[in-house]
Amino acid sequence: MHVLVVGGGIGDLSAAIAFRHHGFEVTVLEASSEFRSLGGVLGFTPNGTRLLDRWCLNLVQEMHEVACQADVFSMRHWEDGRVLAEEKLDLADIYGYRVLVGARASYHRLFLDHAIGLGAKVIFGARVVSFHDKGDAKPSVVTENGDKYDADVVVCFDGIKSLAREYILGCAAPPIPSGFSCYRGYVSGTTLAADPETAWLVDGDKGNFWLGDDCHVNGCSFLGGKDWYYIITRPTIEVLSEVTEGYFAPGRVEDVLDLVEGWDPRLVAALAKTEECLDWQICHRPRLSSWTSKRGRLIIAGDAAHPVSPTSGQGATQAIEDAAVIAYCLRQESINVALALKVVEAIRIGRAAAVYEMGEQQRNEWHRKDATGRECAKDKVGMKSKDFFPFDAEQDAAERFERFGAELKADS
Ligand SMILES: Cc1cc2nc3c(=O)[nH]c(=O)nc-3n(C[C@H](O)[C@H](O)[C@H](O)COP(=O)(O)OP(=O)(O)OC[C@H]3O[C@@H](n4cnc5c(N)ncnc54)[C@H](O)[C@@H]3O)c2cc1C
Repeated sequence: MHVLVVGGGIGDLSAAIAFRHHGFEVTVLEASSEFRSLGGVLGFTPNGTRLLDRWCLNLVQEMHEVACQADVFSMRHWEDGRVLAEEKLDLADIYGYRVLVGARASYHRLFLDHAIGLGAKVIFGARVVSFHDKGDAKPSVVTENGDKYDADVVVCFDGIKSLAREYILGCAAPPIPSGFSCYRGYVSGTTLAADPETAWLVDGDKGNFWLGDDCHVNGCSFLGGKDWYYIITRPTIEVLSEVTEGYFAPGRVEDVLDLVEGWDPRLVAALAKTEECLDWQICHRPRLSSWTSKRGRLIIAGDAAHPVSPTSGQGATQAIEDAAVIAYCLRQESINVALALKVVEAIRIGRAAAVYEMGEQQRNEWHRKDATGRECAKDKVGMKSKDFFPFDAEQDAAERFERFGAELKADS
């Protein structure tokens, strides 16, 4: 079976890895003309790494090496930085794997190298502009330079601004502002280490959250304190005449400092060392009841199908789970691709919705007034995503495939 994967992001490449593991021929089409190291901080949780480890030798070990090695995330009071609770990152004894938090760029590079190493063909500079799935012809796509690619199945992980989603819906799905935005920034470990007030943030790898009133800051150092990244989630208060959705909209460091006025002075001192920052408006899309084309041989997945808030900590991991289920179902129903993808939908839509809800609840909980530490119960500031860690998407697919397949066959 030949699978065409649209997009070369983390979801797409994890799908390429899963498909190669299952013995499919894989072609990946990525819009960027070359590999670019982009993005802030990303997390991978055991429900994703468990799958990657099954498909690909050494990948998880290498992901581990670039991850924050801190033992815990310290959840701190916004004003004085005292620790309210600690969340263990090394959960190998419970779930088999630790939580991996690191720079998106490092992970992206590893996924690309391993996908190619396993035999996936990755084509850069291939921005898909149209999708086709009709009649007896194979499903296909056309890129902006006019090249046509076809395959037995087209899997689109083309991100939050997905064009494939529009093809499936038959119309545009404009972004829906979540009401929250994130400042993202970076300060080098050397800069922080030179100031006694901030040196502790990069004395080895550290993971800290400061929880305030309707706002929280996550600051993490990696690679032995070489890099310190932060992300600040706050309500979007600007009146926007149009939604400016994008990972690279510039922010103003003065606004960051206004926002954290009166917060833990050590945090303020660190943020004041930022030279530039980004302002990422978090947007959602309407929840879809179907992820597949009418003819059934094209599917959207990852952020294209179900974007989640960064507070879920599950964006990348849910894309990996999607990849697992698509690969499993295609392997069972390699002749009837349309049925295989319908089963994927039936298996995945509910879980994706549950993850979305968890991400929203997590943010609300961290932003509650009592999360400032005044009356906060310690178990209320932790990671809600832990409930999702024991899940094995491949095992779940194996358990439900036959029943869903039979039901869908009976309905058709
Ligand atoms: C540049 C960038 C920076 C990010 N930074 C962060 C971050 O700091 N924190 C965080 O939590 N999440 C970040 N994310 C999102 C995170 O990577 C995803 O939520 C998660 O990995 C799920 O990935 P995905 O594969 O579904 O989508 P994405 O990772 O968004 O990948 C989509 C890929 O599809 C490609 N593409 C899009 N349209 C087309 C087309 N028409 N034809 C061909 N290729 C196409 C894009 O170039 C991209 O490589 C970022 C994503 C990107 C693309």
